[in-house]
Amino acid sequence: MSAPTASGRPLDLGADTIVWDAHAGVFPDPQIDLNLLNDWRDNGVDYLSINVGFDVMDWQQTLRTLAAYRRWVLAHNDRFALAGTVEEILDAKREGKLAVAFDIEGMNALNGDINMVGLYHALGVRQMLFAYNLNNEAAGGCHDTDIGLTDFGRDIVREMNRAGMIVDCSHASYRTTMDIMAESAMPVVFSHSNPIMICDHQRNIRDDQIKACAKTGGVIGINGMGIFLGDNDTSNETLLQHICYVSELVGADHVGLGFDFSPGVDVDVGAILRSRPDYWPAGQRYDTPGIKHAGPSQLPDLLDGLNGRGFSGNEVRGILGENFRRVASVAWAATLR
Ligand SMILES: [Zn+2]
Repeated sequence: MSAPTASGRPLDLGADTIVWDAHAGVFPDPQIDLNLLNDWRDNGVDYLSINVGFDVMDWQQTLRTLAAYRRWVLAHNDRFALAGTVEEILDAKREGKLAVAFDIEGMNALNGDINMVGLYHALGVRQMLFAYNLNNEAAGGCHDTDIGLTDFGRDIVREMNRAGMIVDCSHASYRTTMDIMAESAMPVVFSHSNPIMICDHQRNIRDDQIKACAKTGGVIGINGMGIFLGDNDTSNETLLQHICYVSELVGADHVGLGFDFSPGVDVDVGAILRSRPDYWPAGQRYDTPGIKHAGPSQLPDLLDGLNGRGFSGNEVRGILGENFRRVASVAWAATLR
């Protein structure tokens, strides 16, 4: 199916190609109007992982958001579908629907209880991050003292492998990510992180992290947030620079997209970031006025850009989604139910 996009141009990668956005940047809130998901659907995205919580909030709030989002998606099944497997994503695509699963940014949502991993999985969470910028009882965050992965965190890696959840290193500290990648029996991703060699920011990642991720069979999703791409620069030219850097370092099979995008025009991102200087510390450009985001509306032009950079058809399809699909088809095939 050729999906008509909001920009008026089709994003036609073939019926069997899944266009995959590994992470939305929507503020997790049960009250939010999820009609904003149309922004992905109308721009030809087939699968989106939308966050239902992060360490800034308590686990009860994460469950409330997850409950509200599940109900909303099920009530709008003419356009959207909950997906827990790659087959369910392909079914949704055939029916012209955007497939949705959930992710959680940080382990505070577990409330210290390993049993919560299986519960979240049963409710549609298919990807979890270990920390959100600051340390927690599982892991170190990228804006905190680098404590590495804790014993509890090690148990959680193994539990996620067994339960069928993608292990996600974005927002964690350097040592933590290296520990996670050594521990995991399944491919590991950075769902929304950029190479630090292109843009110097504590949220971005070093070459050896990128190499270790590729060695697990994983994927680095390029983040669309302007301050992680460059000087609040969301141009396709800059996105391509990040994509090409990772591709040249470890191969195009290990690059994807995690736009971290939110179309919520009413949300003042700057006000949220200023409200918690512990999670979004000074000196990390979070106080940049009018932080911009690259998003799915840029996909048709990005496709042209990738073709123009000499990537093969298979490599382009991989970057736009098939690489993350490869990870999911392995990581979601769990041994524990
Ligand atoms: Zn994030």
